[in-house]
Amino acid sequence: MPNNLNVPPYKIKMVEPINLIPKEERFSALKEAGYNLFALKSDQVFIDLLTDSGTNAMSDNQWAGIMTGDESYAGSRNFYNLEATVKDIFDYEFTVPTHQGRGAERVLFPLLIKEGNYVISNMHFDTTKAHVELAGGNTKNILIKDALKVDEYHPFKGNFDIKSLKKFIKDKGPENISMIIITITCNSAGGQPVSMQNISKVSKIAKDNNLLVIMDAARFAENAFFIKSRESGYSEKTIKEIVKEMFSYVDIFTMSAKKDAIVNIGGLIGIKSDQKLYNKIRSRVVPLEGFPTYGGLAGRDMEAVARGLKEGIRLSYLKHRVNQINLLGEKLKNNKIPIQYPPGGHAVFIDAKKLLPHIPYNQFPAQALANELYKEGGIRGVEIGSLLLGRDPKTKKQLKSPFEFLRLTIPRRVYTDSHLNYVAESLIKIKDRTEEIKGLQFTYEPEILRHFTARFKPID
Ligand SMILES: *Cc1c(COP(=O)(O)O)cnc(C)c1O
Repeated sequence: MPNNLNVPPYKIKMVEPINLIPKEERFSALKEAGYNLFALKSDQVFIDLLTDSGTNAMSDNQWAGIMTGDESYAGSRNFYNLEATVKDIFDYEFTVPTHQGRGAERVLFPLLIKEGNYVISNMHFDTTKAHVELAGGNTKNILIKDALKVDEYHPFKGNFDIKSLKKFIKDKGPENISMIIITITCNSAGGQPVSMQNISKVSKIAKDNNLLVIMDAARFAENAFFIKSRESGYSEKTIKEIVKEMFSYVDIFTMSAKKDAIVNIGGLIGIKSDQKLYNKIRSRVVPLEGFPTYGGLAGRDMEAVARGLKEGIRLSYLKHRVNQINLLGEKLKNNKIPIQYPPGGHAVFIDAKKLLPHIPYNQFPAQALANELYKEGGIRGVEIGSLLLGRDPKTKKQLKSPFEFLRLTIPRRVYTDSHLNYVAESLIKIKDRTEEIKGLQFTYEPEILRHFTARFKPID
């Protein structure tokens, strides 16, 4: 089937109505929200591309699994099914469920991080960074430089810079490094994949230096699909074979199931074989998340995760999903709207710095573009730029992000290509009047995680 005929490998059994409120109401909703899309009610949004986390549509098979929930406090059959599924897909002996990905981080990290040590990643996700710091560690990102060349093609923009990684370990000394986290796909760099070759090199360097490697595995299936389609030697392998190989290079993973396990809530810790570590995790999970056979989840939710993990590695599904995002990205690019290229596995990142050159970083061009897109089409995206980055903790000066992105994040199995075409058309309309778009200034700026609750006004 040609890629432009992106026929979904599912049909629709249940629908959820959405409604585009009139333009004047969108204008007043935005004003009332203090020009911050996080403050909108979801009923004021027509197409919601805020995040792909927990916003997925479950299948009939997952919903049927919900009805088989065994809510026993200990030894739920849904836990044993989840454990068997993890063994089958990843070849990992031990599974500990958690309420979501950050729960897994909170349970695991203090067991592995030494106070004052470094934790290295291609790029830490924000809750991952927070939990490294809460455990007393310092974070270091070592991503390839090609990831910063926004409009230039590179098949694996999530890769570690191997030379800098070796140098950093040598300079700091392996005894001052607690572990390496491989984030697949690399969310903060635009959902960009890490190659098998890079994973295996990082693992080899770690072994040579006696360092632990763990996988931040939220989008493991999308990463495996990119390896299959872009890395030589993998086109004939199944997604499951690729996943097994990826996870053979590391010893532990944490996972937010709200992404590639296609559920609305859930997380996991997987341990390849280390019984001693598993015992420690089992003791720690009880006071933080819950008994080790439910870890903060209902039995029915564990069943949905187990079934979702199997659906998430189906080739027909992954092909359609990644292609859906690619078609949106290509359409924008062909209409001269600059994007992080190639598009990632879960989102298209629009380069607002290039599209709105008249708005400086400290007036938040990507937030201004997000607001304009809401006014134009009732579409909610999210700023990934200087607003998210915040101020220097010491000098209180606004930091300048290397990127000013508007992220359009695509939930799994929720929107059709015609919804996404509408999104593209709305952006194309805006493109003819970009010089009219105004920067923003704060009317209320909270000290921490300000992007969630800040209020703004347009600068005249
Ligand atoms: C979402 C995410 C997390 C955190 O998971 P939650 O389920 O949101 O708590 C950690 N790492 C990555 C890469 C993620 O995308």
